[in-house]
Amino acid sequence: MIKGLICPDGVKTPTHGCLNKCRMGLRCAPTSYIKAVATSDRKWSGIPSVTQLCNGTLESYLKIKHDYYVSPNDYAFAVNGTQVHANLEEHGENAEQRITQFGVSGQPDEVIWHEDDTFTLIDHKTAGSYKVAQCLGIATEKVETGEFFKNGKPKTKTEIVQIPGEWGDYELQLNMYRLMIEENTGKKCREMKIFFIVRDGGTAIAFSRGIRDNIYFSDVPWVEDLKVLAYFETKRDALIHAVENDIEPPICSKEERWFDRKCEKYCSVRELCKHSGVKNG
Ligand code: SF4
Ligand code: SF4
Repeated sequence: MIKGLICPDGVKTPTHGCLNKCRMGLRCAPTSYIKAVATSDRKWSGIPSVTQLCNGTLESYLKIKHDYYVSPNDYAFAVNGTQVHANLEEHGENAEQRITQFGVSGQPDEVIWHEDDTFTLIDHKTAGSYKVAQCLGIATEKVETGEFFKNGKPKTKTEIVQIPGEWGDYELQLNMYRLMIEENTGKKCREMKIFFIVRDGGTAIAFSRGIRDNIYFSDVPWVEDLKVLAYFETKRDALIHAVENDIEPPICSKEERWFDRKCEKYCSVRELCKHSGVKNG
C-alpha cells in the first residue's frame, strides 16, 4: 500500500505528515491532489482487479504486500484517470459501478445502455502520442513529391499511413470489462470504444507520429472470449497464490515491464524489486 510521498528533494514523508504540514515549506501539490495520489491503490480484498491483473504479477504483489512511497509528480496522469470517473458521476453521465465477475473486480468508466438491450462500453484514457499512434495503427512515411531541389535531389513530404494497430493491455482490459458486464447483466456488448486524450497533443513530436488531433474516439478490437478469460484467470490465480502464500512471483514479462523501461523509471515499486534497473533476458 502507498505509505507516503517522495518529495521533490527525494526525501520520503508519510502521507499524514505531508497532509498536516509540508516539510519543505512550499507544497509541491495541494492536499486534494496528495489525497488522490495516496488513495490511488486499492486495499487487497482477496479479489484482484482488472488493473492489477493487467500489470505484472510481481508488480501487483509488491504493491499489495509492501508499503511504498510515490512521487506526486509521477501520478499526474493516474490521478487524472480517477478524476474522469468522478466527473462522469457528478455530471449524471453513465459512470459504471464496480463489478465483480469471474473472481475479478473492475470498474469500467462508462456504459451506455441501448433500447435493444445492448450496450456500448467506453473507457477514457490519457495517453502519450506514441501509445495512441500504436493503438490506432497510425504511422508516417516520407514520399517523393515528384519535384526536385536544384541539386537534383527529390523533394519529399510526410504522409500518414495506416498499419495494423497494436492495443496491448488496453484491448485485454476492455474485452474483460465487456465479458464481466455481459455475464452480470445478460446483455450483449454492441461496441467497445476508448476516448483518448493525447497527453502531448499539439506538439511537434505528436505531429511527427501522425497524431494531429488532441482527442480520438476509437473502436477497440474484439478479442476471443476464451483468450481473454484464459489470460485473466491465469493471472488471477498466480496473484492470489503469491499473496496468500507469501511467495514472490517471477519477474514481470518483457511486455509488462515495457522491455525494462518501466523498471528503470516508471514502476512505483521499483525500489522494492530486485530486478529494477537490471537488463533482463
Ligand atoms: S506537499 Fe510535496 S513537498 Fe510537501 S511534504 Fe508533501 S510531497 Fe513533500
Ligand atoms: S521493477 Fe520491473 S520487474 Fe520489478 S515489479 Fe516493477 S515492472 Fe516488474
